[in-house]
Amino acid sequence: MAHDLATPQMVHEKMMESNGILAGKKGIIFGVANDHSLAWYCAKALNSAGAQLAFTYQAEALERRVKPLAESLGADFVEQCDLSQDTQIENTFAKLKNHWNNLDFVVHAVAFANKQDLEGHFVDTSREGFALALDVSAYTLTAIAKQAYPLMQASGGSIVTLSYYGAEKVIPNYNVMGVAKAALEASVRYLAADLGQHNVRVNAISAGPVRTLAAMGISGFREMLKYVEQRAPLKRNVQAEEVGKTTLYLASDLSSGITGETIHVDCGYSIMGM
Ligand code: NAP
Repeated sequence: MAHDLATPQMVHEKMMESNGILAGKKGIIFGVANDHSLAWYCAKALNSAGAQLAFTYQAEALERRVKPLAESLGADFVEQCDLSQDTQIENTFAKLKNHWNNLDFVVHAVAFANKQDLEGHFVDTSREGFALALDVSAYTLTAIAKQAYPLMQASGGSIVTLSYYGAEKVIPNYNVMGVAKAALEASVRYLAADLGQHNVRVNAISAGPVRTLAAMGISGFREMLKYVEQRAPLKRNVQAEEVGKTTLYLASDLSSGITGETIHVDCGYSIMGM
């Protein structure tokens, strides 16, 4: 009788899958722009625990960057989805339902504000700039949650978003994005209250500063890194891998009793008063 011979690579992949705490779980990641994106580090951590992943990218121009990354983790669902467009969100989830039928977790790692609103004074924020930042950086979590939780009915699910300390305290130049992150963290609590009855958990990670495309758009970001390194209890900046590991914890059953929380992954910076 002929046997299918497994290559060492296949055996390794199978072992990883069967040992991973997310083996058999499926999730979608919003917010990979490149291999520096926090979403990418979340994806790598989730994949290493055995999860199957789907990815989206905002604009067509990003397809050539995101597709190879997604494919390197074995993903075969990579779709364009501009989160400022409800129809694109609805289409993405309709396609995902056809593809998988059910969903276990979502990672929302998306934010945007106009460059001129990330420098100078918050008081100068325009109505349009305020609306844009709040729409993309906060409302999109609710828009995604609305589409995601019906796909999580079978065994519940976990939704994780990324926030920043500027939601709680004034950080120079973060300005309207701080207000958007405050709305995002409040949305996490309201969504957690709504979706808990469906066994869907919603949490945020408040990450310390990490050098990414979005972060480099904040005026004075390099100084922020130096400042945190000097004052954080761990005397260093957080690594993107640490944000990935906490996302894995929140997406997995290890955090089954946690919802509506914002967990600081910031080397302790946020506990300091002086
Ligand atoms: P990033 O790599 O630039 O990721 C930001 C992502 O948001 C990009 O993929 C961007 O796509 C996407 N995006 C913006 N507008 C969108 C829209 N309308 N529809 C769909 N996607 C859209 O930067 P990042 O630092 O990893 O940011 C990820 C999340 O982490 C953000 O929420 C950010 O606020 C948060 N965070 C970052 C830090 C940090 O220091 N890096 C700290 C705490 C929290 P495009 O590139 O195509 O615009």
